[in-house]
Amino acid sequence: MAIEETYNEELERFIASKGGRFEPADWMPAGHVAAISQSIPIFRNSCETMRRHFYLDGQRPLVLEVISNENSNATCYATKAGPSETDLIGIYSGSIITAFSWFVALYASPDSLDVGSIPDLPGENWKSIQIDPRYVSADGLTCSDILRYFCAHQMAIASMEFLIRHEFAHVKNGHLELVNTFRQTQMIEMINTEEAPDWLYRQALEMDADCNAVLIQLQWGLSRLAEYQDAELPILNANASVADLNTYFRSLAQHCLYGTVQAVVSSTVIAGYTFFRMLNPSPWDGEIAIGKTHPPLPIRMSWVLVMMQTLAMEGNHPPLTIDDVLPLAIEVVANVEQKFGEVLDSKADVTAILSTLEQQQRALEYDRILKAAWAEIRPFLNKHKRGKGKLAGGDD
Ligand SMILES: [Zn+2]
Repeated sequence: MAIEETYNEELERFIASKGGRFEPADWMPAGHVAAISQSIPIFRNSCETMRRHFYLDGQRPLVLEVISNENSNATCYATKAGPSETDLIGIYSGSIITAFSWFVALYASPDSLDVGSIPDLPGENWKSIQIDPRYVSADGLTCSDILRYFCAHQMAIASMEFLIRHEFAHVKNGHLELVNTFRQTQMIEMINTEEAPDWLYRQALEMDADCNAVLIQLQWGLSRLAEYQDAELPILNANASVADLNTYFRSLAQHCLYGTVQAVVSSTVIAGYTFFRMLNPSPWDGEIAIGKTHPPLPIRMSWVLVMMQTLAMEGNHPPLTIDDVLPLAIEVVANVEQKFGEVLDSKADVTAILSTLEQQQRALEYDRILKAAWAEIRPFLNKHKRGKGKLAGGDD
């Protein structure tokens, strides 16, 4: 059997220029190495699932790499067309560590983020299960502590998947080809400090990518509702191995986070909103970020909430309704902000998201300007998008 030539020098040069593929180093804490190493197959799988769902057969290959780079950031890249042409989503190791550290901290306290409401599971009351004392007693942990820990990991993964879905949208929707027309490089990275003559179009692309990320994240959650609703948990006994317990608590965490429509809505909002919140946003000054590649973080946080509302109102995602979404989104934001306050040893700081509500007219004007820019470039994007389906917000 012939071995397919997949080596692509251009891609390798690009990966090397950003820090190279992730390799554990001696100085790295073992927990960080474990979080990153265990995430890589999960992220590759979710990237491949999206590719299979959205792409047509025979379209450019897409790879995901975790890159050794301490920034909380990601990138995407399309190589030149040719026999070994490839698209790349690059997740920086720093963003995985940031997400895991934050989510473990946010979920550490007993009343965190509604994980406390542990459900009765079909045919199995988890509280009566004999859990291996070696597992729970060493650090004086209780079952709900362990469950919170697993929920924290699941949500760290979810917030990274939100980032991957954002990068996926840049690749899928032809954004890289548009950027190439301005900059002669098919690369997008989340750096906001560079001078950007094409800033208006760039910000429109970010809006498109953020909205797509919310849409795909929500669809993914709803599509797995049945699976997580009736999660069949492994039977545990006194001889259960640590691997059994891992499987058990991961399934239980997934049931808590994705087992009802409300849980899916909450988890989707938490993943997207918290991703931007972790980047420590200052309140929005009400100004359009002229010359920047990315819109201000509070604006992007508000898009997560607005996009969820829009999807609920469109009615294309039963059983989601606006009655589910609005109160939950508000509750989730209040809860997330309270947790950030506890972790930072301060009061809940809602100034970033409030700054978009208090200047709502200006925020709407911002949206209007970006949507107008997006409409201008849409014919170009349509020509370059990968795969099937419409671009967000309009017909082909
Ligand atoms: Zn982006």
